[in-house]
Amino acid sequence: MEYGNRVLIQESLVQVGKTITLKGWVATKRDHGKLTFIDLRDRSGIVQCMGYQKMGELTTESVIEVTGIVKQRPANMVNTQIETGTVEVDVQEYRILNTAKELPIQVEGDGYEINEESRLKYRYLDLRRSRLNSMLKLRSKFIRAFREALYTEDFVEVETPMLTKSTKEGARDFLIPSRFYPGKFYALPQSPQQYKQLLMTAGVERYFQMARCIRDEDLRADRGFEFTQLDLEMSFVEQHDVMALVEQVVKSAVTAVGGKIKQDPFPVFEYADVMKKFGADKFDVRTEEEKKAGVLAFAWVVKFPFFKKVDKKDAAEVRDSKSGWTFTHNPFSAPIPEHEEWHVKGEHTGEIITAQYDLVCNGYEAGGGSIRAHKPEVLRATFRTMGYSDAEIEASVGHMLEAFEVGTPPHGGIALGIDRLVMLLAGENNLKETIAFPMTSTGRTAVMDAPTEVSKEQMKELGMEVKENK
Ligand code: ASP
Repeated sequence: MEYGNRVLIQESLVQVGKTITLKGWVATKRDHGKLTFIDLRDRSGIVQCMGYQKMGELTTESVIEVTGIVKQRPANMVNTQIETGTVEVDVQEYRILNTAKELPIQVEGDGYEINEESRLKYRYLDLRRSRLNSMLKLRSKFIRAFREALYTEDFVEVETPMLTKSTKEGARDFLIPSRFYPGKFYALPQSPQQYKQLLMTAGVERYFQMARCIRDEDLRADRGFEFTQLDLEMSFVEQHDVMALVEQVVKSAVTAVGGKIKQDPFPVFEYADVMKKFGADKFDVRTEEEKKAGVLAFAWVVKFPFFKKVDKKDAAEVRDSKSGWTFTHNPFSAPIPEHEEWHVKGEHTGEIITAQYDLVCNGYEAGGGSIRAHKPEVLRATFRTMGYSDAEIEASVGHMLEAFEVGTPPHGGIALGIDRLVMLLAGENNLKETIAFPMTSTGRTAVMDAPTEVSKEQMKELGMEVKENK
């Protein structure tokens, strides 16, 4: 059902001989003396419109309404570049709905040559280009396919809070000052890790969420502070169960958007072996031809060490550990069952293997998850190994320990990086190309240029003051 008294451009193909009204953007304009030709674009496509001289006043990217007769184009003049190339609209009347002045960036072409600052400042124009427009559609279709695959498997989509407490994903937290409790702060979630585990305690059994995660990490050219994860958790499962389910939904979502997968089932590697073989736990097993053909090569990596020595240059690791040991992936993971005794007794710390599994794709980490500690003594042992006193354990994960004492089923899950998967599917090599409004490389928001200063009154309400940085 179309609204707004218009016909979609794509439908003009089957309206030959009829008078129709189209609404859209002037993609291009060509003046030919008495006649003016424009290509009109809407969300469904592009069609050529031909009109009298006055249409020469139209500027590119203006929004117009056109009423005209759809005509078949002569066979030798069919435009094979566009879907509606067999027809054109003979304009009887048009109306300008919004005039575009001279554009700060061009909308035609793929836009790679335009600098990032301009592309993000005028992102609403940048997104009009067909490369990015198709990207948004691909992303939406991919997420939909994931959702459908998960609904079929009885998963429930649940939202978890954005204003929360530090989540210990190994990154720096984004902090939000509280107006009601001056001097106290919320943290934005680095992931919904703890809430999804609490949903297992709550009896949900199969949870998922398209979750926004926020981490105050050092900026890199292709990364901002926010990203989207497909976050899921399941109860009464072992490692191989979660891996099988994830593999099934990934295959179903990837193939739904036309992606090609190299190996099915996904090969499984052990961490120690991949470190020997590839020198890293992310690797690319595609051949040159497969790279050219846009194939996705998924692989699992398992048997990671649970703990590592703190990297003194990593602020979050230094903050999270008090003993010099910290977790390699996730403090809420369980050790593999064979190593549970060592773990609880605090022995053989460097040798303990965690029930963690990472999903690698084309040289990137596409996701990671684990079977979790669901018994209080196992989670407590993790924090004890990291040097926490009983009081410190209570203060940081006391709420989880409490939940683990009222009937928490064994559980495990994973989070998959949606931005990264879309990037690989689209054959792009920058995550920002997959996000509608990404941040600049210098940490400023697209279009709105935050962070910005706030008023003295706002600061006062928060009980805060900015010290001059001289
Ligand atoms: N919460 C973890 C992360 O964000 C993923 C998981 O273990 O489910 O990396």
